[in-house]
Amino acid sequence: MAHTDSRLPRRSCVAIHVGSITVGGGAPIVVQSMTNTDSADVAATVAQIVDLARAGSELVRCTVNTEEAAAAVPAIRERLAAQGVNAPLIGDFHFNGHRLLAKYPACAEALDKYRINPGNVGRGRKKDEQFATIVEIACRHDKPVRIGVNWGSLDQELAARLMDENARLPAPKPATEVMHEAMIHSALDSARRAEEIGLGHDRIILSVKMSGVQDLIAVYRKLAARCDYPLHLGLTEAGMGSKGIVASTAALAVLLQEGIGDTIRVSLTPEPGGSRTQEVVVAQEILQTMGLRSFTPAVVACPGCGRTSSDYFQHLAQDIQTYLRNQMPVWRNRYPGVEELTVAVMGCVVNGPGESKHAHIGISLPGTGEVPVAPVYVDGEKTVTLKGDGIAAEFQRIVADYVIRRYGQGDCR
Ligand code: SF4
Repeated sequence: MAHTDSRLPRRSCVAIHVGSITVGGGAPIVVQSMTNTDSADVAATVAQIVDLARAGSELVRCTVNTEEAAAAVPAIRERLAAQGVNAPLIGDFHFNGHRLLAKYPACAEALDKYRINPGNVGRGRKKDEQFATIVEIACRHDKPVRIGVNWGSLDQELAARLMDENARLPAPKPATEVMHEAMIHSALDSARRAEEIGLGHDRIILSVKMSGVQDLIAVYRKLAARCDYPLHLGLTEAGMGSKGIVASTAALAVLLQEGIGDTIRVSLTPEPGGSRTQEVVVAQEILQTMGLRSFTPAVVACPGCGRTSSDYFQHLAQDIQTYLRNQMPVWRNRYPGVEELTVAVMGCVVNGPGESKHAHIGISLPGTGEVPVAPVYVDGEKTVTLKGDGIAAEFQRIVADYVIRRYGQGDCR
């Protein structure tokens, strides 16, 4: 996707190149996601990465947890390329990453970035050795690394040490504050060691994910004040459905508004049978709603009330939203700027014409007791009044024609 938004607040000034995508350095905030397939299952993993990338995930992470998974990574990369999917691929390593990366150099080369969790690299003396091995391999293959600290797997030796030190203070700090400090300490200390081993300052992204909204905001604010590394934001274990969406949005919006965060992931638990791509849609919607990036034409719809005579307008709003999103894989390249389009679908004439005039295209459906016609506004002017059974199809055609006229040439239907 073209990175064109000029309204970005201040972010990290350090640019990290992850394959073809830039994170930080003034680049637009990057959307990423993670697969939940067994990475050893090449076909299933490729299919899901294709879905995620086509939904708009600009970076995709997959777990590399076994020899079979490490051996599968080059094949995954090749099959993606054969399908024209070039989203940078990130390998997520825990416990045995040092062994897998050393034993499978083709995997180390095929990945565009490695994610290391300092709490899961190893225990005792081995921790430093194993961390060093991964960083040395990253240096050798010229790959960036995300040092991703996670609340659920925080380095327990470090946490215990900081707790002990705090307890000996004349006025100990609250335990929550010490745990936040442990998260930040783990990230910054690991980054310092990675640089000492030879990884470039411009090859490191940090994250300190927590599952509580206020914890996340507090810890990222402190981290952002103490380093200039690009930051990956995400509320870990956000949960399912509206709870996960609201919690992630609440946390990320505060930080993004303050200029904190260069790449985001929304860690939703999919509903049984639900699509993994929902997390990508939500991440895009957070950025688009905040005016930080545009991904898909926006549908403005009223909530409906006692004046709406049926659920017809809800169906129309849903249909047009689905239609616009489904068109984007083709429209994105063919009609540059189409992601800025706004379409209004309103339930009656109270706010319908006004809201329609503010959108590029708007339709105002008849409310209870109103004449059964639907005026359509294009660029603020009433152009046609639709009626009868074909309103939805006719309105979709008007939108498609408008896209062709305004954003390019050719047939987009
Ligand atoms: S536009 Fe009409 S139908 Fe929609 S919420 Fe307002 S009054 Fe109700």
